[in-house]
Amino acid sequence: MYCVKCGNKTEKSVPTGDNINREICTACDYINYVNPKIIVGALPIFSGSVLLCKRDIEPGFGKWTLPSGFMEMDESLEEGAKREAHEEANLELNIKYLHTTYSLPKIGQVYMLFLSEILNDDYAAMHETSEVKLFSLNEIPWNKIAFSAVTFALKNYIEDSENGFPGKCHSNYN
Ligand SMILES: [Zn+2]
Repeated sequence: MYCVKCGNKTEKSVPTGDNINREICTACDYINYVNPKIIVGALPIFSGSVLLCKRDIEPGFGKWTLPSGFMEMDESLEEGAKREAHEEANLELNIKYLHTTYSLPKIGQVYMLFLSEILNDDYAAMHETSEVKLFSLNEIPWNKIAFSAVTFALKNYIEDSENGFPGKCHSNYN
């Protein structure tokens, strides 16, 4: 591989004081740390129903998801969740609390999904989305959900609704 700083060759080795093999530049000694990416998103609620977005892109084309995407530099988790919901579904949200964290260690991704109240009624399918729809909890299309993180968040939301919304954050690793 090649150094992202200077373009010279890298070699794999364990830096001093580290215990993981990294790509290290043979010319400028730059260490290319590869760390997980954060996916921010919302669980948008209106009158107890959940808004889902039908995906217009792969992966998961034609399946339903929560508005979410990779967090950008220069934004907070909450700003990222609001931005994604606005970009994909024209949603205006009031963020309530962090509802779900979902770790995918093998592919280096972490979902951070915020339970949010929908403030506007002109939400619509936008970027990367072919359709948006409010689903009551007994009509969620379980066999057409795009990602395991979304299924996990929705199942926990239903459990919360049966337990009077305890307000705790759910994690797929405890
Ligand atoms: Zn270099």
